[in-house]
Amino acid sequence: MESMTIHELHEKLIKKEISAVHLTQKLIEHRNSREENIHAFLSFSDEEALAAASRTDARLADGEKISPLEGIPGAIKDNICIEGQKCTAASKMLENWTAPYNASVIDKLKALNFISLGKTNLDEFAMGSTTENSAFGPTHNPWDTRCVPGGSSGGSAAAVCAGEAVWALGSDTGGSIRQPAAFCGLTGLKPTYGRVSRYGLLAFSSSLDQIGTLTKDVTDAACVLNAIAGYDAKDSTSIPDEPEDYTKALAGGVKGMKIGVPREFFGRGIREETKKAIERALHFYEQEGAEIVDVSVPHVNSGVAVYYIIAPAEASSNLARYDGVSYGFRASGSKDIIDMYLQSRSQGFGEEVKRRIMLGTYVLSAGYYEAYYMKALKVRTLLKNDFDKVFKICDVMITPTSSGTAFPFHSFSDPLSLYMEDICTVPVNLTGVPAVSIPVGFSDGKPLGMQIIGPNLCESRILKTAYAFEQAHPEYRKTAPKGEVEL
Ligand code: GLN
Repeated sequence: MESMTIHELHEKLIKKEISAVHLTQKLIEHRNSREENIHAFLSFSDEEALAAASRTDARLADGEKISPLEGIPGAIKDNICIEGQKCTAASKMLENWTAPYNASVIDKLKALNFISLGKTNLDEFAMGSTTENSAFGPTHNPWDTRCVPGGSSGGSAAAVCAGEAVWALGSDTGGSIRQPAAFCGLTGLKPTYGRVSRYGLLAFSSSLDQIGTLTKDVTDAACVLNAIAGYDAKDSTSIPDEPEDYTKALAGGVKGMKIGVPREFFGRGIREETKKAIERALHFYEQEGAEIVDVSVPHVNSGVAVYYIIAPAEASSNLARYDGVSYGFRASGSKDIIDMYLQSRSQGFGEEVKRRIMLGTYVLSAGYYEAYYMKALKVRTLLKNDFDKVFKICDVMITPTSSGTAFPFHSFSDPLSLYMEDICTVPVNLTGVPAVSIPVGFSDGKPLGMQIIGPNLCESRILKTAYAFEQAHPEYRKTAPKGEVEL
């Protein structure tokens, strides 16, 4: 089957062409045959998945109505807590930690009798852009297994791309949903900060983290967002407004819309093939009756610098809890308590996580706080002002998601040049607005991504813009090699 989306499979389930148990079994078989080469998952939950599937089949047999996501197997990034299951954040620190409670998104999904096939791989504590920083080995890109799937939600992206799950949840602090979606040819949605509860997401950088979706198309993104969006009293940054039905507005078209093209996103480092693909997309939108406007968001040029101060600062504080006492790994044979802290944190965390903790501790330390952290917060506000100005005259902005296609493993020898790769995605987290990445073409047989950014709470608008392009370009929604599942 070329593409098994949630909405297509839902039709098959309600018409009784397939059963949820059959679908789940087929996906488990397919996953088992692919995992050796992909390594998208860190743990499986087949028994729970099959039990949920048979509950759905029983409900269908009783003539009950099922919601659009019910009976369709997904996967959950392993930094989102599911009660009674391991939640490792791909860290040795949490290798044997079992979550004692559900994340709020999991509570919402459980109320819909959702099916999870397991927990997916990530860069340790979601710090990275390649999934190479996982303590349990990297994930491979299903388009070319010599290449990275992107990160940090690389396991979630690869699982969906390889046909091992129909949809997945990821988290996005600086691009961790959108960039792997671009590298794997998927739709990756980062909702507005506060639209989806962060309760039960292991914290990396609390003012930037947001849970979102990785799916095969835009309709599926709307469908999963419908299931997880909404106010949550357990997350103090949750937005009280009622969420919309995000599947409703998809077909609205772009006629009369104003699309801003911020020139700073097309500068040094962005590959020619990426620019060309986006230009073709803008031409398409123009023909559909949208107006293309050149805009400027000057502080984007400081985005990476600001992000790599604020995110490590918050991480250094959030990760202080992993001390060998309250949570997770404890080193053995320590001389005294100070040595125990030292050894546990030295051995439990990987290189990148330790680098960020040190960077973060440094920028927050007395004497440097004003010079780095406070200054970064100020530039963050300037960036927000830039975005606000653009959204006064434009409905959405369009940019590349990343500089080019997925690159081979170990392509970056120094961390800084890899950080620079986040240039198109971090401004979105710093300003809190929603954005979606969709496939916009191919280069060297690998997918390229386009990012559509909207004002706060305008998820429907960016999804509608994405949908118009997707519907007119089915050729960009190809399945990766061996990604088809025989039902
Ligand atoms: N690549 C970015 C980082 O390394 C973003 C990570 C994320 O969004 N979790 O921090």
